Amino acid sequence: METKELMEKATRFHGHICPGLAIGVLAAKYVLEHGFNYSPNEEVVAVVENDNCSVDAIQSLLGVTYGKGNLIHQDYGKLNYYFYNRETEKAIKLSIKDKVFEDKKKSKHEKIKQLLDSKPEKVFNIYEIDFNPPSLAEIEDSIPCDICGEPTMNSRLMFYENSSMCIPCYKAQRK
Ligand SMILES: [Zn+2]
Ligand SMILES: [Zn+2]
Repeated sequence: METKELMEKATRFHGHICPGLAIGVLAAKYVLEHGFNYSPNEEVVAVVENDNCSVDAIQSLLGVTYGKGNLIHQDYGKLNYYFYNRETEKAIKLSIKDKVFEDKKKSKHEKIKQLLDSKPEKVFNIYEIDFNPPSLAEIEDSIPCDICGEPTMNSRLMFYENSSMCIPCYKAQRK
């Protein structure tokens, strides 16, 4: 797919056009051209170290989504993106080059156009990395919280004063 089509598809999902989305489109474009396909299941897993607009391009274009569990957010505030292909055991890291944000005089639309006209290699440092992806999403039993009764994932239940309870109830008990 051309960059323009990828941007259109990402914009339909994200809701608006912005430079962050363009950055995510470029990352996805690079990955799609280097041994990765759209992931209907969990063939591809992405680890992202930010939660800005760019992540929506990655979700919509690569099929790595929060709900499927093959999109992992590490809250480090860094524009780093890691992609793992479970079928081929190929892994790529893209890390934004700091120069990309230098030109503060450009308008939003000029920035978007400039990004979309760029080769991903100009915007990112790109590395082949070892294949050590996060483990597959696990399906877990839910058990009702003793306080509110709402089903809660077993591993998230807290045990306090002889009751097992969800995290919000635990926090309320401790106040
Ligand atoms: Zn945006
Ligand atoms: Zn509860």
